[in-house]
Amino acid sequence: MAEQKRDYYEVLGVARDADADAIKKAYRKLAMKWHPDRNPGDKEAEAKFKEASEAYAVLSDPEKRQRYDQFGHEGMRDAFGAGGFDMSDLGDVLNQFFGGGFDGGGGFHFDFGGGGRRRADPTAPQRGEDTEQAIRLSFEDALFGTSLQIRVHAAVACPDCGGTGAAKGSKRTACKHCGGAGVLRQRGGLFGFVQQTCPVCRGEGTVVEKPCKKCGGDGFVAANESVDVTIPPGVADGMSIRVAGKGNAGANNGPRGDLYLRCAVAPSALFERDGQDLILRRYVSPALLALGGELPVETPNGTATLTIRPGTPNGAVQRLRGQGVRAIGRFPQGDLHVVLLAETPQALTAEQAKLLGKLRDSETDKTFPQRAAQAQAAKAFAARRAKTR
Ligand SMILES: [Zn+2]
Ligand SMILES: [Zn+2]
Repeated sequence: MAEQKRDYYEVLGVARDADADAIKKAYRKLAMKWHPDRNPGDKEAEAKFKEASEAYAVLSDPEKRQRYDQFGHEGMRDAFGAGGFDMSDLGDVLNQFFGGGFDGGGGFHFDFGGGGRRRADPTAPQRGEDTEQAIRLSFEDALFGTSLQIRVHAAVACPDCGGTGAAKGSKRTACKHCGGAGVLRQRGGLFGFVQQTCPVCRGEGTVVEKPCKKCGGDGFVAANESVDVTIPPGVADGMSIRVAGKGNAGANNGPRGDLYLRCAVAPSALFERDGQDLILRRYVSPALLALGGELPVETPNGTATLTIRPGTPNGAVQRLRGQGVRAIGRFPQGDLHVVLLAETPQALTAEQAKLLGKLRDSETDKTFPQRAAQAQAAKAFAARRAKTR
């Protein structure tokens, strides 16, 4: 039996729309509290530490987070390999979290268990970070798909030094001060030891003999690129679309990470979206529902003609199979639901008022059977109430 897993947002104690920063902060707090070095031999602390790390591994990764938001734990089955979230995944989280860019606690970071991977060769190319950018889409563009040209902000390899950070004739070598580790380890501190970021290489593990003038030795420059992206049909509000290789450049000329476009989809004046289904609330004349007839309705694939049967009740729904949102990813093709709503006629001409008056004056209980049944019930109720007096 599968064990009952807690909701990742609940584990970290953050809102479902928490941003990357809030998630990072929440995890840092929990990691400090439950770290095994602070709770030696405490099985519960260890479990809590692992649980928080797993939640962070998912919620800090835009792709995994999206999948979790849509499918819950079910969607995370193959996210961590066959055995679920294990020591090597934990090592990845800790490396990612405490390995770089973590300046909240005086530049320390720690290894855990043996899950952490040492940086084998600081001069080896590393894959760049994934980035995230929000885009706004009209309801129609999300439904039909579109091609857009967007401005993308990313760190790219410096054109002058080709990403090495070294000026011409100079090169990047392992930092002698820290032996390429990027950190210096000392005893003491919160977890029994403190690792200071190496002041010489600033945690990079490498130094350049003569830094490139354009990028100051970083190897990266900020770029504002124009990128053509294709939005597939069927994108929903909140979905992320991956644009491969348009994230930040990697260190030592490593490949660029991916860009995730988080889509905000505008509402439509005509349709409502419910998952893959579309809902069209179609106002019609009460006469059409009473008499029946043909009714043209808009669908994503063109105009369809509905056949309305005589005596169709107000609020009746007709389903048009396969006329909803196009299949996307694991989501199947949706349906279109047309809700028929009788609109009360307004601003009647004298002639129309006369005709409606004629109709009203000729009504019988058979004309409105529900009203007749209700009148019976009201009578019985009034009779019963009269006896209490
Ligand atoms: Zn440069
Ligand atoms: Zn160093």
